[in-house]
Amino acid sequence: MIKFEHVSKLYDGKIQALEDISLQINQGEFVYIVGPSGAGKTTLLKLMDKQEQLTSGSLQMGSMLVERIRPSQTYILRRQIGIVLQQDLFIPYLNVDENIIYSLAASGVSDLQQQRKKMQAVLTTVGMSAYQNRRPAELSVGQRKKVAIARALINQPSVILADEPTANLDARSAIEIMKLFFKFNLNGTTVIIATHDSTIVNSLRHRVIELQKGKMIRDENNGKYSTRS
Ligand code: ADP
Ligand code: ADP
Repeated sequence: MIKFEHVSKLYDGKIQALEDISLQINQGEFVYIVGPSGAGKTTLLKLMDKQEQLTSGSLQMGSMLVERIRPSQTYILRRQIGIVLQQDLFIPYLNVDENIIYSLAASGVSDLQQQRKKMQAVLTTVGMSAYQNRRPAELSVGQRKKVAIARALINQPSVILADEPTANLDARSAIEIMKLFFKFNLNGTTVIIATHDSTIVNSLRHRVIELQKGKMIRDENNGKYSTRS
């Protein structure tokens, strides 16, 4: 379970990115976070894996209270969360398989056989095993996104967070990417997607949480992208 209780986030002590957010997301839910640019969507995701610290309030991720986690323990939280950010941040001179293995090594998997096995498994899950010897720059935007999703799966997370995963994708690739998230969700993974993509939100209906200027202004099951259309 994910529980925000009166969570606020100020950057540099003055920029209010989130204000008094209270919400609960149960294990296995599929949630869209919508709202205009600057509304606080990315910040909301980054609080959940402690890339940013909340300023006040309380945030529970599973059995952990995020604000209480010491820096040396952050890895325990991050192991439970797969995050797909807007910038994929691959190492350009490493192939797809090497990039995944690099992340596996960084998250503590040191056994080479284990690394290869897990690398193959996650690339297969996203349909990218045929591309494992390519450099990131040799892939399309959609293919790179799939690899980024594969990388987010390496610890078999119970929660997947994705920031604008269909940005810059054609309609067909966007649907393919969304199908992956639905597949993980069917397996019981909680999926939380920050998005601007009204077509996706309106055609593949789920819970919608809307942010505006850092405040939560809507939380609706089977919601549409906007109440104004
Ligand atoms: P969204 O993802 O909805 O576009 P963000 O969470 O990125 O919104 O940003 C919310 C607000 O916080 C914006 O006003 C943005 O400029 C500000 N902000 C985001 N990241 C930082 C940062 N690292 N330092 C200062 N301000 C930031
Ligand atoms: P498929 O979804 O193609 O049936 P499997 O369920 O056999 O694939 O999973 C293969 C590997 O892919 C797993 O070991 C795991 O690393 C990753 N994986 C698959 N589904 C998920 C999921 N929902 N959450 C996290 N990792 C997953």
